Amino acid sequence: MLHPDTVAVTAGRPHGPGDPLNVPLTPASTYRAGGVVYGREGNPSWTALEEAVGALEGGHATAFASGLAATASVLDTLPVGAVVVAHRGPYHGVGEQLAERSHRGQIQLRSVDLCDLSAAAAAVPGADLVWAETPSNPMVDVTDVAGLANLTHRAGARLVVDSTFASPMLQQPLLLGADVVVHSGTKLIGGHSDLLLGLVLAGDRAWAERFEQHRHDNGAVPGALETFLALRGLRTLPVRLSRMQESAAVLADRLAGHPAVTRVRYPGRDDHPGHAVAAQQMSGFGSMLSFDTIGDAATADAVTDALRIVVHATSLGGVETLAERRARYPAESDRGTPPTLIRLSVGLEHPADLWADLAQALDGVLHNG
Ligand SMILES: *Cc1c(COP(=O)(O)O)cnc(C)c1O
Repeated sequence: MLHPDTVAVTAGRPHGPGDPLNVPLTPASTYRAGGVVYGREGNPSWTALEEAVGALEGGHATAFASGLAATASVLDTLPVGAVVVAHRGPYHGVGEQLAERSHRGQIQLRSVDLCDLSAAAAAVPGADLVWAETPSNPMVDVTDVAGLANLTHRAGARLVVDSTFASPMLQQPLLLGADVVVHSGTKLIGGHSDLLLGLVLAGDRAWAERFEQHRHDNGAVPGALETFLALRGLRTLPVRLSRMQESAAVLADRLAGHPAVTRVRYPGRDDHPGHAVAAQQMSGFGSMLSFDTIGDAATADAVTDALRIVVHATSLGGVETLAERRARYPAESDRGTPPTLIRLSVGLEHPADLWADLAQALDGVLHNG
């Protein structure tokens, strides 16, 4: 077995003599009769990316136009009336997809704290699907995937894990027992804040074919350029992540010691309730953390406004460090995200510069307050 760092570099490449090292970009909507017929069926760049991510995760990958197109395709394969048990705080877009389907009577939704395996065990009887997200966005909750897979399967249900925060490098939920994994490839896989992309992985070939069919029939196809760039991003993901998570660990500790910060959520810290589980199921603690400031929403806004190197912007997983007060969105605030929570996606800048920037922004609210 090759190390994941090696697979990220070697998988999804042409192998023949005289072939280019990388699958060339093929911008095509239609083809002369005789092979692939139409651009909704496939593209060489989709296949190359799917091969590489599939090799890292130990499953069959299907690429979609965005993370939400990928998650919708999973929910759409459920029969009408299916019972879905979901973590009480999934990514807000996934929360909207679940709520909308539940309001239409398409699914029956049960929201529980899946970090609590006894709460999960009480909720799964009669369920068809369990939807976990670990680490979660933006609360950085950690769920025990192997434990949850066990009790999900005992109840006759299937387990989906949104593994976006971990990326294919830091955890492989299929190998821990999950049935399906979803990623927003927009984030760490693409890694440069220049594309939208989603991926669904299934251990089971027949299930993977249903996702491919869904993509074809519903048209949420990724772009040729997007998949080409995402694969280019994946090549450097191991080295990007190792630097990013090293910096995240430093920043998490510094933030925890700052008088303008009341709480830090980072699975690498031993005060995180999911620290032991994360240490067990992840090969690193990742580049994502969130922290709460003193005061109120206006205090946290003053912090993000004062940042000069860290960019005040949504999204995550790129080379640029980004900070966002998530509850600035009413929908995010409605689902219980603390008003002063700032999500931090740690990038590749020097950690000393990042800390100096965060410290000056946090010092500012101490002196003004
Ligand atoms: C961003 C994100 C998504 C949605 O992905 P898009 O590519 O923005 O559609 C889903 N899950 C998580 C955890 C995310 O962070």
